[in-house]
Amino acid sequence: MITLYDKQSQQFTIPALPYDYSALTSAIDEETMKIHHQKHHQGYVDKLNAALKDGNIEHHGDLAALLKKLDTLPEGVRTAVQNNGGGHYNHSLFWQSMGPNQGEVSSEFDAAIKKDLGGIDAFKESFAGAALKQFGSGWAWLAIHDGTLTIYGTPNQDNPLMRGDTPILGLDVWEHAYYLRYQNKRPDYVAAWWDVVNWSAVSEYYSSVIS
Ligand code: MN
Repeated sequence: MITLYDKQSQQFTIPALPYDYSALTSAIDEETMKIHHQKHHQGYVDKLNAALKDGNIEHHGDLAALLKKLDTLPEGVRTAVQNNGGGHYNHSLFWQSMGPNQGEVSSEFDAAIKKDLGGIDAFKESFAGAALKQFGSGWAWLAIHDGTLTIYGTPNQDNPLMRGDTPILGLDVWEHAYYLRYQNKRPDYVAAWWDVVNWSAVSEYYSSVIS
């Protein structure tokens, strides 16, 4: 996963995108990408840093570890870390899973999708279903649960780490992710999004988390 934390300043930071803001226009327009990355994602990072500082929380920059043990955090800071730490983690994963080139699904990832989800078409259908079924703001996920690939949605900025699973691929279905171009037509956004998934990057990430 790309860097989420700057050790020198001891602050969480937004990662630079590995492509231009205009690189995904077949599915996501440049203005949405800019606002999403520079305003929304930055906002989660700023609020996360503030909450951790206010709560005097020791974390060594390990955001995943924090999200896995939200219940151990003091009540006053827990919700802020859940929402803003989740927001930081989810968006960082989201950016790295997209790109102007689709690449290819690796044989290892393909085999797991076949075994656990019935193949790439069934996976896409089920994933899109989770994205459309998610009421209000949230995410659709491909995650590993007990060693098996599984699909579900989560509300707000919750993610699979918070239920002991490992996120592999997430789709942001907050209106801020698609409203400028698609308005209320979430199904059109979800259908177009497959055009900008970087399967090589997602496959690589999958391999890195299961090894
Ligand atoms: Mn978002």
